[in-house]
Amino acid sequence: MIEVFVGVGANLGKPVEQVLAACDQLSSLLNDFVCSSLYQTKAWGYENQADFINCVAKGCTHLSAFELLEALQGIEKDQGRQRHACQWGPRSIDLDLLLYGDRSFQHETLIVPHPRMKSRAFVLCPLAEIAPNLMLPCGSLICDLIRLPAIQTQGVREFNIETVQ
Ligand code: ATP
Ligand code: CA
Ligand code: CA
Repeated sequence: MIEVFVGVGANLGKPVEQVLAACDQLSSLLNDFVCSSLYQTKAWGYENQADFINCVAKGCTHLSAFELLEALQGIEKDQGRQRHACQWGPRSIDLDLLLYGDRSFQHETLIVPHPRMKSRAFVLCPLAEIAPNLMLPCGSLICDLIRLPAIQTQGVREFNIETVQ
């Protein structure tokens, strides 16, 4: 079995419910499932849109990386993800394969580790919560990356689910 990490995000419709529903589906797909808290994040890349709710899940699987990507895309489809022309635009749910064990590869449809994860506080903050001592295939430690000013200044904060229920 391989340990994998999946980034989850949403900012359309009811983002908290959609992220939790996706995590519920992931918990059926992965063994030894663990999920971070939810985090609220200003949109990244294309800023004129609602805040995102994000989290990171981890678990173990026998699926190949491509089978897992297909399963993640199936969950997105189930939850009504529509593809827009606008890159990094609003979405009802987004599941990214962040890490697949310690493997690195670049394929037309799948790049692992996720190529932009190291510059995104909304990935690194939840990752640091559930795997602070994790080392990326490039040798960077999550607990070091999270301290970088470029990450600290992105304004990611833990989202307190109790206050909205
Ligand atoms: P970003 O990848 O910067 O977070 P995005 O999530 O908005 O952007 P999508 O439109 O969801 O991008 O995905 C575009 C394509 O990225 C997918 O069709 C998929 O084939 C490809 N892709 C490559 N590497 C990965 C990965 N590690 N996880 C998920 N999709 C990936
Ligand atoms: Ca993404
Ligand atoms: Ca994606």
